[in-house]
Amino acid sequence: MKILSVNAGSSSLKFQMYEMPDEEVLISGVFERIGMEGSCYTIKLNGEKIEKTASLPDHKSAFELLVKELIDNKIVDSLDDIAGIGHRIVQGGSYFDKSVIASEDVIDKIDELSTLAPLHNPAAIIGIRAAQAVVPGAVQTVVFDTAFHQTIPEENYLYALPYEWSNDYKIRRYGAHGTSHKYITMKMNEILDREDTKLITCHIGNGASISAVLNGKCLNTSMGLTPNAGLIMGTRCGDIDATIVPYMMETLKLTASEMDTILNKKSGLLGISGVSSDSRDIEAGIKEGNKRCELAQKMYVRRIVDYIAKYYVELGGCDAIVFTAGVGENSVSVRRQVIEALDVLGVKLDVEKNEIRGKVQKISTNDSSIKVYVIPTDEELMIARDTLELINS
Ligand code: AMP
Repeated sequence: MKILSVNAGSSSLKFQMYEMPDEEVLISGVFERIGMEGSCYTIKLNGEKIEKTASLPDHKSAFELLVKELIDNKIVDSLDDIAGIGHRIVQGGSYFDKSVIASEDVIDKIDELSTLAPLHNPAAIIGIRAAQAVVPGAVQTVVFDTAFHQTIPEENYLYALPYEWSNDYKIRRYGAHGTSHKYITMKMNEILDREDTKLITCHIGNGASISAVLNGKCLNTSMGLTPNAGLIMGTRCGDIDATIVPYMMETLKLTASEMDTILNKKSGLLGISGVSSDSRDIEAGIKEGNKRCELAQKMYVRRIVDYIAKYYVELGGCDAIVFTAGVGENSVSVRRQVIEALDVLGVKLDVEKNEIRGKVQKISTNDSSIKVYVIPTDEELMIARDTLELINS
């Protein structure tokens, strides 16, 4: 059965087609600059990467071209071969604790939640509508980045703000990267060969979040109402004293939107280093003796360690810490510094085993108090799995 995982942005459409239940990737790619000058797309097929330019006035035209490529490359014989299309949705609010079929009522709720994810939810709806128009026979499903975090108890998801705000204005912790945290949890439990586990899952990429997972269910997570909470990220500040916001808005006469841009796009590693949001550039800067790059990485690592320590206490111990996403899967140096700082808990790094990138590996020593793993994440596969499950049910 052929299932498509899609992630629609305001001007982009990423896709990956799977043969399910074998979980074999048949083709993947991305359409970019949709509705703009110079639109183009890239396809990965049989280990080859093909780049093409095309006129893409809207997402529907991108879907039409995608279907044409699937047929031309003999991935499918006709539209009827596409059994399901799973759409990634950033914000599911308190409505959704699992993936569901994209009914009109579901789409209305995703639309209603657009105020909480103004850049993402409207784009995802455009993607669903385009997919419905071009592939009407496929089962359309929606997979929420927030769903895995819906098991977080009230004392962890509420902010200490006026109590009514959570009901009247939906102000609470929703978290993000839930699809990734869920995938990592399943994979880690599979490796440990049990479900009654205490895990700390670290999704550290350009955006970054850490979750405390008890017996397969999320107990707490570092992202909040929006993805700008918790860890220091590429360009996001993560946790700060909230009163800095009105203070600096008054001092610099900034509008809410200008302040939002600073907090989300000009802070984090970029804001501190003044060099880059990319941890590879920060590491290169450190090698050249750049003190602000050194400071940025120190702060970045400190915050990760703080969250791991907090969740260790909250979980009442920990069976495994898992690193995933761009930095977690690839940065030998960030992993090393985090684990070294956890020495007080008896966590010990196997320095040689840590010298890996992008593959499943245990990187702790056998006498480490907590196992530490690197597990590459696969959000697209989770979307395909959930879509298959919904089709079968
Ligand atoms: P993601 O958001 O998961 O795609 O992660 C992207 C980020 O991963 C980039 O911005 C880099 O900071 C980081 N990254 C990717 N490759 C490496 C690497 N080899 N070493 C350190 N950081 C890396």
